[in-house]
Parts: sequence; C-alpha cells; structure tokens
Amino acid sequence: MSIYKHILVATDFGDECEKVAKKAIFLADNDAKVSLIHVLEPLDSIYGGEAYGATAIQLQQIQNEINKNTEGHLKKFGQKMGIPEENQHLQVGHHTKEIRRFAKENKCDLIVVGSHGRHGLGLLMGSTANSILHGAECDVLAVRVEKE
Ligand code: AMP
Repeated sequence: MSIYKHILVATDFGDECEKVAKKAIFLADNDAKVSLIHVLEPLDSIYGGEAYGATAIQLQQIQNEINKNTEGHLKKFGQKMGIPEENQHLQVGHHTKEIRRFAKENKCDLIVVGSHGRHGLGLLMGSTANSILHGAECDVLAVRVEKE
C-alpha cells in the first residue's frame, strides 16, 4: 500500500522521463492514483505578439500545430507508462507555476520531477525541481538524472 494517494509526475519528454515516471509508479504501489502533466509555454509569452516577421495569426497556427504534436507525445508516453488518458494532462503556461497549481487543485500529495546535476551558471539559474519545491504544498521528489 502506498503512503500517497495522488502522485503527480511532471514530464518534459526528455531522455530521462521514463526513469522519473517509473519511480512515481513504483511509489504508487498499484494503489495511489498517478497523474501525468506536461506544461507548454505559449509562443506569444516567449516571443511577444509577433516573431521573425510572423503575424499573430501565423503564430497561432504554429501554436495549434505544437499543441497537437505535444498531445500526441503525451498520449504515447502515457500509454507506454500505463497511465490512462484521463490522467494525462496538457497545461499551458509557466511550467513550475502550472505544476504547483495543478497539484494543489487536484489534491496531489506528491510531485515527482526529474533533476539534472548543475554547475556554474546552470546552478545559479536553478532547477525546475527547486522552483517547484518553493511554494509546493505537498511532498516533492526530485529524481536525480544524468546531465545531458
Ligand atoms: P531541469 O533539471 O530543470 O532540467 O528539470 C527537468 C525536469 O523538470 C523534467 O524531468 C520534468 O520532470 C520537469 N519539467 C521540465 N519542463 C517541464 C514541462 N514543460 N512540463 C512538465 N515538466 C517539466
């Protein structure tokens, strides 16, 4: 039996994402609910209204295409990990804020996130795991993964 009831796995579809999800599934022990989340940063928040001569409409078309592809990645990865579709969530916004918000609204008691070793500037900029930890209202497990 798991000590957790609802575990949230944050994935960026990186090389290490299976390792991170497997830890969450192990901790769920066939008992806790496991939800998967990926957060997409909207293009206009990255580039502003227009970029490289693309109009807002063109940016929207690119955004729609990205959303569709990302939904496909999420579905494929969820399937591979045995996480049902209703527990797979694609959110739009700033990744750490959205992960914390989702965890709070869905009463998750553990967030599982990958964590790369960092040096130099990377260390100064901080990690996703670190930002989630600051402000999360539940446990956070940072699964150490190799630096790419
Ligand atoms: P970092 O060490 O900062 O590169 O963080 C990598 C980990 O953060 C990944 O293994 C994921 O668990 C999580 N992560 C990063 N970006 C996202 C994202 N856009 N959506 C969900 N999780 C993410």
